[in-house]
Amino acid sequence: MQKAVYTGSFDPITLGHLDIIQRISKVYDEVIILVAHSSQKSSLFSVGDREAMIRQTIGSLKNVRVASHEGLTVDFVKSIGAQVIVRGLRAVVDFEYEMAMAAMNKKLAPEIETVLVFASPDYYYVSSRAIKEIARHGGSLQGLVSEDVAVKLREALKK
Ligand code: ADP
Repeated sequence: MQKAVYTGSFDPITLGHLDIIQRISKVYDEVIILVAHSSQKSSLFSVGDREAMIRQTIGSLKNVRVASHEGLTVDFVKSIGAQVIVRGLRAVVDFEYEMAMAAMNKKLAPEIETVLVFASPDYYYVSSRAIKEIARHGGSLQGLVSEDVAVKLREALKK
């Protein structure tokens, strides 16, 4: 049974993330979406809200589940018996960061592989950061996030 962990901040989940999730769910027996508790990034949404939005957005993908973990990603991956960490790659700017993180995770847990999946041409320009900026200024989120996430974003930014 090949299990993959797709990890990230998902603050919030975008249709670019969803595209990666749908594609990798066809490649692995089970996909676990791991919401990271990041101490480095300040988030708009709580981990619980981010998990709920992911569950809403992915709908009924049978072999996909959502989890969160405070601590090292590799420790979570080992604890559930997964073999692979999946990350998405949009442009060259993502590459250096992803390469350094993959190398560090390899050092920490040599038995775990990082697999990088190219963003689809439709979504390579979509990032949670840009989405929040658009929402903050009242721009259209059509085709970028789910309806539910668009509503949550508007509510969160009204406060
Ligand atoms: P992080 O803060 O850990 O980078 P993100 O939630 O921003 O988390 O992204 C999680 C993963 O998904 C990262 O590997 C990122 O490069 C990838 N990703 C983000 N947006 C897209 C997209 N539009 N298409 C493909 N991959 C993406």
